[in-house]
Amino acid sequence: MPLSPEQFRLLSPLLIGWIQRTLAEHACGARPVATLGFRRLPQYFSAELLTAAKVVAVERVPVPPLSSLGAPGFEAFETMPAAGITYIDTFFVDRRCAADESLHFHELIHIVQWKLLGPERFLAAYAAGLETHGYRDSPLEVMAYDAQGRFESDPVPFDAERLVAQSLRIYFPAA
Ligand SMILES: [Zn+2]
Repeated sequence: MPLSPEQFRLLSPLLIGWIQRTLAEHACGARPVATLGFRRLPQYFSAELLTAAKVVAVERVPVPPLSSLGAPGFEAFETMPAAGITYIDTFFVDRRCAADESLHFHELIHIVQWKLLGPERFLAAYAAGLETHGYRDSPLEVMAYDAQGRFESDPVPFDAERLVAQSLRIYFPAA
């Protein structure tokens, strides 16, 4: 059953609190993406973004405990084995995928989405997309997977931050 706007209004601060605690717990292990030495990422993202964006390599990426925060119905998402997940200016990657530049590219697309939408609107849009379309077909994921597909198949660099800004204007005209 979809979350009502009222349910989401109650969930949102709990979720943001959980995210802030999770980021604080991993702050010591967070490194700027710019320091990882990936060759292609600087051709798609600004130095400013790659310095501000941080990555934490972990044994298991932390997924919000939505059911215990009072939002049942996301069990599939909660238990999905994820290689990466992004919260605000930081993303987590499974240690075994720490050298995967394409995965880092995907999560950086989410970093740009978080930045342009702001946490409240990102969470509302992500939750709505998840409920309506499921994980893979939710608009914010489609945007990330489409850009990642282009990153993998086309060697010609593009401005990924501008691409996200343009896509967000189509999906979310107010962004
Ligand atoms: Zn994603």
